[in-house]
Amino acid sequence: MSLRLFLDSESAIPGEMLVEEKERSPMYDIPALMKRHDNGPVLVFNKVKGSSFKIVSGLCGTRNRIFRAIGADSQTYYSRIIDATNHPVPPILEESGPVTEVREKPDLMKLPVLTHYEKDPGPYITSGIVVARSPDGKFQNASMHRLLVLDRDHMAIRIVPRHLYALHQEAKKQGKDLQVAISIGNHPAVTVGANSGPKFGVDELGVANALLGGELKLVRCKHVDVKVPAESEIVIEAVIKKDKLVDEGPFVDLTGTYDIVRKQPIVEVVGIMRRKDPIYQAILPGGSEHKLLMGLPKEARMYDGITKAVPEVRGVRLTLGGSCWFHAAVSIRKQAEGDGKNALLAAFGSNPSVKHVVVVDEDINIDDVNEVEWALATRFQGDEDMIKIRKARGSTLDPSSDQEKILTTKIGFDATIPWNKAKEKFEKAKMPEK
Ligand code: MN
Repeated sequence: MSLRLFLDSESAIPGEMLVEEKERSPMYDIPALMKRHDNGPVLVFNKVKGSSFKIVSGLCGTRNRIFRAIGADSQTYYSRIIDATNHPVPPILEESGPVTEVREKPDLMKLPVLTHYEKDPGPYITSGIVVARSPDGKFQNASMHRLLVLDRDHMAIRIVPRHLYALHQEAKKQGKDLQVAISIGNHPAVTVGANSGPKFGVDELGVANALLGGELKLVRCKHVDVKVPAESEIVIEAVIKKDKLVDEGPFVDLTGTYDIVRKQPIVEVVGIMRRKDPIYQAILPGGSEHKLLMGLPKEARMYDGITKAVPEVRGVRLTLGGSCWFHAAVSIRKQAEGDGKNALLAAFGSNPSVKHVVVVDEDINIDDVNEVEWALATRFQGDEDMIKIRKARGSTLDPSSDQEKILTTKIGFDATIPWNKAKEKFEKAKMPEK
């Protein structure tokens, strides 16, 4: 269950893979192509300037590709993710695996790390799954973090106050650096698992293993007490220093705008293990892959939440235009006049980051923003069908909000057909079938 196996299966589907044989540079050149093909095929770069490694991107670049990777579709996706997060399966531990083929001294300069945008402070590793063991030894945690390469054996890591942050704080309290291993180049189901957001203490690699039907194998690292996917392409063994901070950023976040510069911890590399002929995995900051990996687990949670408030939810989409973070379209089968508004309340309640939500009837295709807009145009009245919530907790990522207090205004649009008017007035005109 490796990146390679997934590449093979994608290459068999017409239009799903583009292979570039011309030499391309990791500095702006490859990122520009990634941007051009955003939300499109997997890109494979066979000749990379200054490196013997190949580069692949877009593994999680479209909704359907992610669904194929975890054996789901747009209907079964939510339950796949929720079941896997609720019932993780411990991966199998092996003595060795493809990633242990080559063991090297720390040298990040050998990796074809990309520099993406004009104001970037340097090359950023964007597909690294950071695996850490809790200082009490009870569990492993896996999460994705951006890593700014500083020199041959140092990086800056952005750690938002979540699980890895808590483990780092705990290690610091004990006067220790936190041992970690950064896995690069994985089957997309592993990447989705690492981003699934289970409760603290639940191993995300166990979630990934559940998504892979129990096929995920781990190996021990040599220099740190951490177990990593045996079929990774590259693993960086490192420690997150307990006391050294450095400037991190500016970095383009999923909004496509620059995040601020912050003091963040330093990562010191202690070893690298890799395959003989590794494929380096890249994710474009602010691209569809970044957005979908962040947004899809939230979408599953929203589906779960809204299902508790209205009888039948047909689908929830955090739309790409809303950075898969701020805007949701929800399709319901309305059974009572107030269902649209209740769906809105549940949507806000189940995802604090979401800012604008549109609820539509089941005849509207929520994957088509033009249809959602059409529902707003023909089924919605601002004074009757809109709810506004002022000064609610929002997202630090929204530059239009009060970013100091993290307060925002949320607006819900009930664009379902009002039941006080004749239903025929709202029906889409049909053509007779042949
Ligand atoms: Mn966790």
